[in-house]
Amino acid sequence: MQLDLSGILLGLIGLVYILLIPLTFRTRHAKNQGLGFYAAFVIFLLAVTIFQLLLRFNTPLSLIRADIAARFPLYTAFILSVFLFQTTFTFLQKKFLPWVWWLVAAFILGIGILISENINGLVPEQVMLGANILRRDLAGSLLLTAAWVFFSTAAFLTTLVTRQRSVHPLHRNRYILWLVGLSFCILGIYLSTEIFLSVPVGEIVILLAVVMLGYSLFTHNLPDIKHILKNSLSLLISILLSILVYTAFLIFFQSVFYHFETTLQGFIQAVFIAAVFALLINPLLGKAQKVLNNLILKSNQDAEYIISDYTKSISNIIDLSRLAEVVTGTIVRGLNIHQARLFLVSEIDESMVLSAVESQTGDALPAAISISTNSPLADYWRYEHRPLAQYDLDLLPYFRSMTEAESTALKSLSIDLYVPISIQNRLIGILGLGAKKSRDRYFVKELALLETLAEQTAISLENARLYENLKLRSAENETLNRELTSANRDLSRLDKAKSDFLNIASHELRTPLTQIIGYNDIVENMASTNELTPANSRQMTEGVRKAALRLEEIVNTMFDVSRLDIGSLELSMAPVSVLMLVNGAVAKWKDALENRKLTLIISPELKDLPRINADGKRMIQVFSHLIQNAIKFTPDGGQVWVYGQNFIDHQDDKKFVEIIVADSGIGIDPEELEYIFEKFYRLGDVMLHSTGETKFKGAGPGLGLTICRGIIEAHGGRVWAESSGYDEEWFPGSKFHVLIPINLEIK
Ligand code: ADP
Repeated sequence: MQLDLSGILLGLIGLVYILLIPLTFRTRHAKNQGLGFYAAFVIFLLAVTIFQLLLRFNTPLSLIRADIAARFPLYTAFILSVFLFQTTFTFLQKKFLPWVWWLVAAFILGIGILISENINGLVPEQVMLGANILRRDLAGSLLLTAAWVFFSTAAFLTTLVTRQRSVHPLHRNRYILWLVGLSFCILGIYLSTEIFLSVPVGEIVILLAVVMLGYSLFTHNLPDIKHILKNSLSLLISILLSILVYTAFLIFFQSVFYHFETTLQGFIQAVFIAAVFALLINPLLGKAQKVLNNLILKSNQDAEYIISDYTKSISNIIDLSRLAEVVTGTIVRGLNIHQARLFLVSEIDESMVLSAVESQTGDALPAAISISTNSPLADYWRYEHRPLAQYDLDLLPYFRSMTEAESTALKSLSIDLYVPISIQNRLIGILGLGAKKSRDRYFVKELALLETLAEQTAISLENARLYENLKLRSAENETLNRELTSANRDLSRLDKAKSDFLNIASHELRTPLTQIIGYNDIVENMASTNELTPANSRQMTEGVRKAALRLEEIVNTMFDVSRLDIGSLELSMAPVSVLMLVNGAVAKWKDALENRKLTLIISPELKDLPRINADGKRMIQVFSHLIQNAIKFTPDGGQVWVYGQNFIDHQDDKKFVEIIVADSGIGIDPEELEYIFEKFYRLGDVMLHSTGETKFKGAGPGLGLTICRGIIEAHGGRVWAESSGYDEEWFPGSKFHVLIPINLEIK
């Protein structure tokens, strides 16, 4: 066959593919996503072109049967759509399994070829499909066409949806370019199956589309399609407007000077002259374009105004959150964007931490983000003081070694542009800007403006940071001071307790000892003068016994405390009734109550309280001591009450019985309510107390309540005192609350 026009065109197309292949490999370092598939795509297209050329010459290939050769474009179209699908998915950085799709495609192609070519005559010539008869070759074509439509549509729709969902204008621009390339490619593939066209239009369209796809795949800084279109539209409208104005003016001029005879020729001349005016010396052009720019591009911000306004507003702010509010507010309004955030940057150990400053509007803050100091992003921010787009982070190979966690954390901020704020080459903050409301990208002019704003923010931010640190330090100092004061108070209390102990111990022990020695001397004297009768010797030994018992009690009390201290108090638990415990405790004090003319009222409801699991002896010790204290600190003629109730702690949903020992005594100063449970703690002057078990204000060693608390806590319970104050005239009284958990197994 002769080398006709379409043959020459095919040859040229093949040549372009040959040139394209090394280019794709040369740019390998730029982006590898989609590159492998794209290179294979181009190689396949080259092979198809060569095959088409060979079909035209006297080669063995030209002997292929015409009907088979006629089906080749369909097979090719199918394979091309699969390439398109795979390249698109990798271009969109979607996670998918390419090999699965290759297998599916190979399977479909195999079946398609099997049916169409009827290899080995496996497939019947006609198949009944309901009432219709389906021819074998038609069935094969139908299958492959359907699969072709599926792969192409999937590629197109996925790109469209991804573009729709993306908030970053630079990414959206990239997707638009891909969509245009994709549409051309799909159109080209369709045209290439129309073999009746005398010129290979389809192949030419495919070539153009493939170049376009390659361009979007390999170029990082792509032209802004939206902006170009808008600019061209604005320019076109302004030129047309100018032409209209000039034409009107010229026609008016003609009609005045040529007696209203405007011919068609005159009109055309007028338009021509107007066009020359409009394009060359057009005073209106600039103005019209500015107005139109404002209308169409909505870029009405005035950089100088923003800068001066900004500098004025932030210069005097020292409060960090106020600064954040003004900085972000001015930028959001000035650039008409959705949101802006001010981040503080601090380097802690091996990481650079970005923490958003809470503005006074109190909107939700993103969590602090931590980036390793070795990460390329940390490096970039430290040394490059220029704004960085999320788009660059997503695509530039320089940032590829960032960890998945870092990338996800940054993406979650929905920030489009990061503007570093540095002072003396030290990064102190980041200004994060969201997308513009116009959905446009940030243009070069705006980036320069933002760099200037960041420079101006730096000093204010550093001042606010220092001030914030100062505030923190002074708050820390205040807390330390408070702690010191309270430690001092504790120390002097401990000191008092220590000297009280020495006084009390000597006082408490000396009294019974003196009694013993005294009785002993009397007995000795009486014996030497033979005055010792059986009656007074019984009296003396009774006195010695009482004093010795008192000594034993004091020693036992001290022993109990030391056992509580080392946690070696042993409890023998058994179910007991509260009433029994109280009765057991009261028995010892019957005489004392009578002597001191005190009324003891035990609530009858105590018998309805559930039984508790407790060491009966120890519990009696507790209540006995509380009743003893009530007797000691209530004046003659007063009252002592013992009552109880069920108690539920809603916080941990635990059940207790609460027993209260109350009196109409001198009461306790609210400030002392906790201290009385401490070891050796006694109110007032130690030496003023009179030692005695039940005397009014009679002193003990100051260990009783400590032991009570120890025993009750060992039972899993709580004890506390309640009183409105200490008053020896009005006798406000005190209440001691005891909580003991109810063991649910015991009824
Ligand atoms: P002691 O073992 O010497 O009896 P406690 O530990 O029982 O000492 O009590 C410590 C201090 O608590 C007592 O010195 C007293 O000042 C105060 N106190 C205890 N119970 C009462 C009460 N019912 N009314 C007023 N003050 C009380």
